[in-house]
Amino acid sequence: MPIEILSEKVVTQIAAGEVIERPASVVKEVIENSIDSGANNIHVAISHGGQQLIKVSDDGSGILENEVELAFMRHATSKLRNIEDLASIQTLGFRGEALASIAAVSRLSVTTRHKSSVAGIEMKLEGGKLSHKKTVGAPVGTVIIVENLFYNMPARLKFLKSESAEKRQIAGIVTRYAMAYPHIHFVLEQDGREFFRSNGSGQLADVVVKSLGIDHFKKMVEVNSRDESYHESSPVQIHGYASEPSLHRADRSHITLFVNGRWIQDSKLTYAIIQAYHTLLMTGRYPVAVLMIDVPPEDLDVNVHPTKAEVRFRNPNLVFETIQRAVRRAVIDFARTPLLRNGQYKNDQGLWEEAPDYSEQFDLDLRLQSPGQHARQAIINNWSNEPGEYLDSRINNLASPIRPRTLPMLRVVGQIGAAYIVAEGPAGLYLIDQHAAHERILYEQFVLDYAKQEPIAQFTLSAQTINVSPEEARLIEEYLDALHMVGFKLEQFGPNTFIIRSLPAMLAEDSPVEVIKAIIDDLQHSDIPGHGAIEEKLIKRVCKRAAVKAGQILSHKEMEGIIRQLERCQSPLTCPHGRPTMIHMSEQQLAREFGRK
Ligand code: ADP
Ligand code: MG
Repeated sequence: MPIEILSEKVVTQIAAGEVIERPASVVKEVIENSIDSGANNIHVAISHGGQQLIKVSDDGSGILENEVELAFMRHATSKLRNIEDLASIQTLGFRGEALASIAAVSRLSVTTRHKSSVAGIEMKLEGGKLSHKKTVGAPVGTVIIVENLFYNMPARLKFLKSESAEKRQIAGIVTRYAMAYPHIHFVLEQDGREFFRSNGSGQLADVVVKSLGIDHFKKMVEVNSRDESYHESSPVQIHGYASEPSLHRADRSHITLFVNGRWIQDSKLTYAIIQAYHTLLMTGRYPVAVLMIDVPPEDLDVNVHPTKAEVRFRNPNLVFETIQRAVRRAVIDFARTPLLRNGQYKNDQGLWEEAPDYSEQFDLDLRLQSPGQHARQAIINNWSNEPGEYLDSRINNLASPIRPRTLPMLRVVGQIGAAYIVAEGPAGLYLIDQHAAHERILYEQFVLDYAKQEPIAQFTLSAQTINVSPEEARLIEEYLDALHMVGFKLEQFGPNTFIIRSLPAMLAEDSPVEVIKAIIDDLQHSDIPGHGAIEEKLIKRVCKRAAVKAGQILSHKEMEGIIRQLERCQSPLTCPHGRPTMIHMSEQQLAREFGRK
């Protein structure tokens, strides 16, 4: 074929393909226009996943009679004049491409009346070509109807997702814009049925309740970077909601981000949120979050992608940090007091209620010495004792009792399967995984000592040696310092032999050689770079080994010891690896299970 310049029609169709990928993209662009027009009410109706019909009505400014045709031309916009304007753009649109693109690939009709006009205009286009135009009576605002999307692009039609996938996508778009603009009253109708409605109250919480449901909303905590005083004057501010650790999802698609009212996709910032849940969520589980990021318009480049879903920040690190810190603080604050706050506990309706006072009955044996002392004391007292007694003292002594309570007082009922502790609390039944719970207790203890730079309690061994492979020996050499920091003192004794001088006190009962072998194994499979990370991994390993195991029968006193200390952990609901430590069944749930209500 000889070289020729493409006709305007083909150019428009190619460009349209970039902006309008699927029915949901039409909904997004048309809603953005309605928002830009200053609408207070936006009504979206679709049928058959939007492929057959998308109708969006708004009560915004409307379009001037002599500009309606222009609005459907490529690069026709009322929102931008010079490229410099982009630096301070306040509208969602600016490319002047959406209406032209949608019209090029559908049968479109528009009815619009500008607020300064006495009558409206109705216009129809087929594949971008004007087929009908007349003056009509209409309220101020704009109605856009898009029918038979991609009827003239058979290739695109073939690749459309299923109707239900498209319905979900469209619902996602409408609810997200409703969250970003809580003062606008949105309604979404699918195949004649109302699917979603926001009340336009201006409160983000109201929209989050509507879009996630009240049950999920009850498990969200408020995030606001302004709560951090030193952060008040920062140019980057965030606010919104993030899930408590008990609410999580299998993928990251439930993390929604907006920048200056624009819904964006940004894998780095999504990661900032996921990181904020470090050790609080199981691996492979992701939080739910709705966060609004506000930055000065000049610190944001929105002209990165045709669908405007990607943006660039002038200071991406500051945005990352602000998000991570604010979310972490909100979630940790919550985890500290998941059920009990100022003597109150959160009931099934998410309301705070007066907690019954169990203190006289159960809070008996909290000791008030320093935790470091406990550990050492435990070693001295128990080194010669029976293993069983050692276990008892280890459970009862190692956590810091001075810390604030994070769980309501629980009463130990008994043990199931030598693995779970059954307990009763003011909010119902608690099943506690003894190993996970003890791991959490030991981990926080260890981290506390470590952070305070207190020497990690150790016990010394009479010369035990361990022989390893050359590769393993190099690994030990490399991490000798880190190992020492967490209580392992090893000395080289010949090329591939080490003397084990001491182990962390928690592992007093363990076989030193076995422990070191497990540690080597961890180091070999460690893919986390950086010093701190290795130490954290070592600490987790030590705690895992030291914690009581599933299969270990515990005395009532031992179980109480675990529960009392778990009640004062910072994050009592998960083990250091992020698995849950407990299952809670409220009295209401129990009643429901038994068919009592
Ligand atoms: P952009 O939004 O990038 O300007 P569009 O093609 O989406 O480009 O829209 C073109 C123009 O049509 C807009 O700049 C605006 O002036 C006008 N317009 C589109 N939709 C509406 C609406 N719902 N209400 C008022 N004006 C609208
Ligand atoms: Mg637009």
